Amino acid sequence: MSGYDGEDFYCDVAIPRREPLDVVFEDDDVLAYHHTRPFWPVHVVVVPKRHVDSLLALDDPDLAQHLLRVVQRTAESVLSEHGAASVMTNLGAYQDSRHLHVHVRSGVPLARTS
Ligand SMILES: [Zn+2]
Repeated sequence: MSGYDGEDFYCDVAIPRREPLDVVFEDDDVLAYHHTRPFWPVHVVVVPKRHVDSLLALDDPDLAQHLLRVVQRTAESVLSEHGAASVMTNLGAYQDSRHLHVHVRSGVPLARTS
């Protein structure tokens, strides 16, 4: 759904699977998949399946711990496969989708044509 222009791609498209995803990990609470429009050659996003606005709104300690564990495992796998990994989440004007998502990425940024 490249034409999606809403504010919450995760609740609207990714979590209900309105488009196919290359899933890395999924359980009842957390979903991790290869970004559908990657910014880096290796680009996985990890999201809570329940709506959370951003990292600053993550106030459920169980979910926080679980999410971090999935981020950790994803980063470990990217690191062992590619020798380098970066983990980040955006806030405010940097946050393109208004749903907490953690990027786990590796490699030099891809040129964007759109
Ligand atoms: Zn959401």
